[in-house]
Amino acid sequence: MAINTVDATVAVIEMDNPPVNGLGHALRSTIDAGVREANARDDVSAVVLVGKANVFSGGADIREFNTPAASAAPRLADVIDTIEASAKPVIAAIHGVAMGGGLELALACHYRLSTADAQIALPEVKLGILPGAGGTQRLPRVVGFDQAATMIITGAPVRARALSETALFDAVVEDDVRAHAVAFAAKIAGDGALPLVREREAPPVTHEGGLDAAVAAWEARIAKTMRGFPAPPACLDAVRAAFTQPFAEGMDVERQHFERLVASDASKAQRHAFFAERTCAKIPDIPRETATRAIAKVAVIGCGTMGGGIAMNFANAGIPVAVLETTQEPLDRGMAIIEGNYAASVKRGRLSQGEADKRAGLITPVLTYDAIADADLVIEAVFEEMDVKREVFTKLDAVMKPGAILATNTSTLDVDAIAAFTQRPQDVVGMHFFSPANVMRLLEIVRGKDAADDVVQTTMKLAKTIGKVGVLSGVCDGFIGNRMLEPYIRQSLMLVMEGARPQQVDAALQRWGMAMGPFRMYDLAGNDVGYRIRQRRYLERPALKPFYVLSDRICELERFGQKSGKGWYRYEPGDRTAHPDPDVDAIIDEVRAARGINPRPIDDEEIVERCVFALVNEGAQVLDEGIALRASDIDVVWMTGYGFPVYRGGPMFYADTRGLDAVVARMGAFADTASADADFWKPAPLLQRLADGQKRFNG
Ligand code: NAD
Repeated sequence: MAINTVDATVAVIEMDNPPVNGLGHALRSTIDAGVREANARDDVSAVVLVGKANVFSGGADIREFNTPAASAAPRLADVIDTIEASAKPVIAAIHGVAMGGGLELALACHYRLSTADAQIALPEVKLGILPGAGGTQRLPRVVGFDQAATMIITGAPVRARALSETALFDAVVEDDVRAHAVAFAAKIAGDGALPLVREREAPPVTHEGGLDAAVAAWEARIAKTMRGFPAPPACLDAVRAAFTQPFAEGMDVERQHFERLVASDASKAQRHAFFAERTCAKIPDIPRETATRAIAKVAVIGCGTMGGGIAMNFANAGIPVAVLETTQEPLDRGMAIIEGNYAASVKRGRLSQGEADKRAGLITPVLTYDAIADADLVIEAVFEEMDVKREVFTKLDAVMKPGAILATNTSTLDVDAIAAFTQRPQDVVGMHFFSPANVMRLLEIVRGKDAADDVVQTTMKLAKTIGKVGVLSGVCDGFIGNRMLEPYIRQSLMLVMEGARPQQVDAALQRWGMAMGPFRMYDLAGNDVGYRIRQRRYLERPALKPFYVLSDRICELERFGQKSGKGWYRYEPGDRTAHPDPDVDAIIDEVRAARGINPRPIDDEEIVERCVFALVNEGAQVLDEGIALRASDIDVVWMTGYGFPVYRGGPMFYADTRGLDAVVARMGAFADTASADADFWKPAPLLQRLADGQKRFNG
């Protein structure tokens, strides 16, 4: 029986598919059968549709993605037809979450009641598609252009409370929405004609300049902030159709966009990204139920660029954190930057003054190790020099309470060597944050050879608590991300040596979708940072040195980047705009001449392929060595830490999309050019094996 309870003459259909009542095949069948049964029964006058547990419905059941069940009848569109054809009123009783297909289902109901704090959203755009069951045509008819466009194009959730004045809801209540809905149903049963959202006229567009101006404003916003993603313009077009075309034609617009998008590489990449992020947390050899250590108090050593940002993460999550410097001056400077960051958030309206004060109040500046001895976790973020790390870890080993986790934020140093400075290597782990640490979502958790399982498990879980995506990496120079960055950097430099200009390399990669071209990135991070790391690398790998002549020269001329007003570009005081600099051109020309290089024209395609395939080849090696657990983890690192375009799914997924045999063929062509480093372009064994077998990195 599909109807769970009949309350007097009101039938209640309870959606029950934990955890979010995803609209899987069984649940769709239940709803469809329930509405039909209610119509057939004389003792039923109205139907209430409600979710079991804490939610109405989170939309499609992601466990059914890419399975036949996803499209088995009744599909969501069929259930919606059944509800709209019902002669008896169907009332949606929303609580918790009504998202995606869940909201589309509610929009088909004749009436909707919601609790005030329920989250309402059409997040399909985040998967590179648009709502495909009428959401783009029904939502605008009840909430108007601005609200519908915002919800459908950004996918962001809105509390029902904020929509209480719109025609989306017949009532917004504070408590027990099911009881309210049953009472409402009993009251309106037999009222006559049933209202359908599809039959409503869309409300007038209030935007100054009307619909066209409103659409133009969104086009500008999409071009600026969602560059390269194909779904947002399609969402806008579908919403627009709700105001210019009858319902049936608007549905055609939605369907055409949906079919095109769902088959697109971009949507496949975005769905890959979605699942890849969820998969990162799974560590095959550490059971899920492994007990974790309690982290109630944190300490950070060093309050520089990284330390301050790292401390903010914990304060933002409500966890008290002490920051330690050994002298007052850098401590004051670091604390002032933290306070400045909070003040800026208040100014931008992102944080209330009270909340900012509360967070800042959780950060305590200290000057002695005694003051942090009882912390459950300490994260070292001092200079990137082994001797300084040794000094700090020796002290930590001496003072920290037993069982405390000792983490290092090193970017490139050997975490096993750092662990060996202590008598408790099992408690040592890498926690590699990305700059700015309070903003970037990536956190590489570096697992040394002696790290205890519960230390790894605790830090992976903690990543989630502080809003990061934790990706496990093995120990190697640079871990997953920075190790792959090295050959990418090398290609960017070789391209310039051979004939491109930094601004051309940047422009080509940015047009392709990288958030920032490599040379702008070097200037932002500080050219001296890479310079110092390279001095160590030259000792370990002397063959690297010739590739870096140009960047070493830039650095020796004290062109450190934005911080010194000049680097690969020139900067005006107080402005981060990168201006091409004739002085840099002269330096490049001089270095080329000294090496007898005759510059040649290089096209954008070569720039992109050489940089991206350099990543792919090193990624294959990282995977083969077991540094990364899976190809999708590498993709997550690059999408969340390095601005790799999500609509290309990360370097490994992009290579899969191109076809690994095609990638290997292009690498072969690069190896054959006169100026090339043939060794560099030798495919990693794993890449070659997969290409030969017509296989992919990602399954
Ligand atoms: P930074 O120079 O900005 O800050 C280092 C801070 O550590 C300084 O404030 C310094 O006074 C303090 N310090 C130095 N020795 C100390 C000691 N013995 N005890 C206490 N404090 C001490 O450097 P940063 O950029 O914040 O880098 C810190 C670490 O984070 C390095 O290992 C670096 O490789 C890593 N990292 C940096 C970035 C980045 O983009 N800057 C990104 C990821 C990781």
